[in-house]
Amino acid sequence: MCPKPFPHFATAAIHAGQEPDPLTGAVIPPIYQTSTFTQHGVETLKAGYEYSRGANPTRTALEQQLAALEHGDAGFAFASGMAAEDALLRATLRPGDTVIAAAESYGGTHRLLTQIYARWGVNTVFVSPQDTAALEQALDSHRARVVWLETPTNPLLSIIDIRAWSEISHAHGALVVVDNTFASPALQTPLDLGADAVVHSTTKYIGGHSDVLGGAVITSTAFWEDQPLTELIRFQQFAGGAVAGPQDCFLTSRGLKTLAVRMRQHSDNAAVVAGWLTEQPQVAEVYYPGLEQHPGHSIAAQQMRGYGGMITFRVRGGEQAARTVAESTALFGLSVSLGGVESLISHPATMTHGSTAGTAQAPDRDLVRLSVGIEAVEDLVDDLQQTLAAVPLHHAGHVSSRA
Ligand SMILES: *Cc1c(COP(=O)(O)O)cnc(C)c1O
Repeated sequence: MCPKPFPHFATAAIHAGQEPDPLTGAVIPPIYQTSTFTQHGVETLKAGYEYSRGANPTRTALEQQLAALEHGDAGFAFASGMAAEDALLRATLRPGDTVIAAAESYGGTHRLLTQIYARWGVNTVFVSPQDTAALEQALDSHRARVVWLETPTNPLLSIIDIRAWSEISHAHGALVVVDNTFASPALQTPLDLGADAVVHSTTKYIGGHSDVLGGAVITSTAFWEDQPLTELIRFQQFAGGAVAGPQDCFLTSRGLKTLAVRMRQHSDNAAVVAGWLTEQPQVAEVYYPGLEQHPGHSIAAQQMRGYGGMITFRVRGGEQAARTVAESTALFGLSVSLGGVESLISHPATMTHGSTAGTAQAPDRDLVRLSVGIEAVEDLVDDLQQTLAAVPLHHAGHVSSRA
């Protein structure tokens, strides 16, 4: 159980789990680069630590920080976001179970469910993120055990009403998991809205500097099959062993301390870029939850504390024009991943969502996704301006935007 002594996010981000080292006074918790711990006697541990797969003090520091920021019962750090998702699913599912997942979930989540879990007898049903009626219907006909959602979605930045989905799913006895990677706990705390567990790719906004892979599960006090969910995850983490190492935990903790200021700047910059994009003749449509015309805007305004740094837009001229845009920026790096201080651009259909090709989850090929960094926003707009100028304007308005 993690204490919550810090009422404000920015303070908790810096202090939760980060007490100075009692031995030396070091302000920053040391990197305990050790696999094992000597013991006072047989079955008598010195400070509760025995072997680093079970627990390591550098990991504990990060896990307490994560639990405090997501308002959870406990946090668990994994080697990657996918390792965290896999641990959560294996701890809660059995062969024969069904998962309901919001369509537009992360491509890797889609791959894990349809290509790995399917072989272990777990069936996944995808439902539209906009449609609570479809969720109810799917729950009525499938008796699903786990409902998995991600909001804002990737790449279309659709907004799912976490409170409504949680209420409906709980009425059917399902466990509700939210992938909170895109919003980060600075902007959204799903456990406060009724979710039972949160997962993260800490590789993204939480780490924030594109220098470390990691994942996390944060649990509520919910029970699952008569056991605390926290203990099920703790056991799975120990038994499965996909833990984050001490160096990676240190880097992730260090990134997390500045999350509040970073997310403010990401959101401010993205608001400017999204507004500017809506005025460009080469752009057919802009998806950003901070725009008033975005269909999820009012729910986002209720459940989020800012709209984040991710923007997707449709380029007139179809796939070729979208590829040209993605390949023509100078400052935005052509790259998968997101959430770092530097701006990135990608073509979701061929890059992040390649594993969904040929399925109903595959994104349209005229989409371009931006991870707007925290550089000077004028420089970002200038870069996009010269980039869009490379798209032949005779395409604008003539070619179907859904090529
Ligand atoms: C990147 C990502 C993941 C997977 O995380 P890794 O750290 O790459 O394993 C899961 N969900 C979302 C939304 C992501 O963006």
